[in-house]
Amino acid sequence: MRIQTNKMATKQGKGDLTARLAEVVPECVVKDTDKYKSDWWVAYRIDEKMRGDPVAAAAPKCKDDIFKIMRFAKDEGIPILTRGGGSSVTGASVSKGGIVIDMSQMSSIISIDTDNRTITVQSGARMETIEKALNEKGYTLGQFPQSFELATIGGYISTMGTGHFSSLYGGIEESVLRLEVMLPSGELIKTRTYDIPRSSASPDLSKLFIGAEGAFGIITEAELKIYPIPRHTHAAVYAFNTFEEAVNAVKALNDIDIKPQLCRVYNEAESAFYFGTDKSIVLLSYASNNSGVLSSTVSELSGLMKSSGGAEEDPKFLDKAMKSRFDFRGQLDSFQKMGLEVETIEIASRWTNVVQMYRDLTSSLSSIEDVAASGAHLSHIYQQGACTYFTVIFKPSLYSYEKIWDAAASAARRNESSISHHHGVGILKSEYVKREIPTNLLSAIKRAIDPDGTIGRGAAPEYTKQSPPVIQ
Ligand SMILES: Cc1cc2nc3c(=O)[nH]c(=O)nc-3n(C[C@H](O)[C@H](O)[C@H](O)COP(=O)(O)OP(=O)(O)OC[C@H]3O[C@@H](n4cnc5c(N)ncnc54)[C@H](O)[C@@H]3O)c2cc1C
Repeated sequence: MRIQTNKMATKQGKGDLTARLAEVVPECVVKDTDKYKSDWWVAYRIDEKMRGDPVAAAAPKCKDDIFKIMRFAKDEGIPILTRGGGSSVTGASVSKGGIVIDMSQMSSIISIDTDNRTITVQSGARMETIEKALNEKGYTLGQFPQSFELATIGGYISTMGTGHFSSLYGGIEESVLRLEVMLPSGELIKTRTYDIPRSSASPDLSKLFIGAEGAFGIITEAELKIYPIPRHTHAAVYAFNTFEEAVNAVKALNDIDIKPQLCRVYNEAESAFYFGTDKSIVLLSYASNNSGVLSSTVSELSGLMKSSGGAEEDPKFLDKAMKSRFDFRGQLDSFQKMGLEVETIEIASRWTNVVQMYRDLTSSLSSIEDVAASGAHLSHIYQQGACTYFTVIFKPSLYSYEKIWDAAASAARRNESSISHHHGVGILKSEYVKREIPTNLLSAIKRAIDPDGTIGRGAAPEYTKQSPPVIQ
């Protein structure tokens, strides 16, 4: 990987452009663009030269505003970049030389339909706001990323995010019923005419926009599945002698009929850090509306975990982990005070490769001089495999950062794993993902939908006019 910082030369001065944009959407122009120069990508903290520099920004209040901004950008030959909560950890929501469309003013809950179990929201609505509105009616979206307080639903859909209850509710791709999108042409489409639970009338076009990082259009509204909040829950914690033993035990959970809500398997380093034990800790929670179903699941679970070598541990570990999970600012601060930075890497593997990939990357990270410590846990489990989530504490420099990501990409490649389970692509992974997808097809779709390159960086960055930093 090689990181360069190259800024796009713009035709006009920033002041001129902002003034002209203000003639088109007077109520929407954001004069101070400093807040759009970075997102949560670590590289922006390591070296300020990495930061973006949008030429103008606007926060539309309605779809018509978006249309006008898009048309303006097209006429000026300057790409736009959509911004949700700016919580991307890959640099996806930062523009260099483009116009930012900040979706924060389009954040309403449009309707909650408990009869058909759906919610319709504007794409700038925050995950936390949506969940609160649903909870008031006894429902949940079931999507709880660690960035719950930061992320918008539009950004979460666009990065194909997932949250800590993924075992029960799936990632966002399993929640989306229908999207409303403004295409780069200015046409507003719904990905289906009717709001129905399933249709084989064509490919599911919502999927084109889920994980596209805004490359194919701006999501304006989303219609999503909702679920009643389960009446009964059960927390269970088990300790195993080794991470490998714990991983094998958790894999066997697939044989139990009821899926857990949450399943996490901490390696020895993270178990020591979070729970003060030298064992490998497994956190589980189960939920059901039926107490009888729940209690028989729990007794099956207990038998299975014990026969796999697990010992029961304090169920309060689960609460502790969930609370500390949302205290990411506190944790980051404490490392930064020591002159260190924190990066997270989320790799998806088949069960056959989970342990080998973990060993491989853990060993590579330990040989990088500036890495002070690393830990890992399985953060999402499936019938077919799991996501291993590494946390790396390192002495910050772009040099060490590149080494860490090169090690991650190599371990992923050697073990036939994906370099991005849920953080998306952004600038960080734009070269690495090319090994994993048919880029020709993606680029052909991009050319067809956005021939002028009106929309900036996205899942098909090479066909944008914008010039992002190059990572090789
Ligand atoms: C502390 C922390 C913890 C995190 N934990 C998780 C986690 O548990 N799970 C997880 O999945 N992710 C996690 N993330 C990553 C991040 O929160 C997600 O990628 C999030 O979904 C991005 O949402 P956002 O609104 O902030 O999008 P932004 O960062 O603003 O944008 C992300 C991408 O989406 C595009 N985009 C935004 N809105 C739209 C729209 N309306 N239409 C089209 N394109 C759009 C942007 O152009 C950009 O390419 C975490 C990040 C942080 C900082």
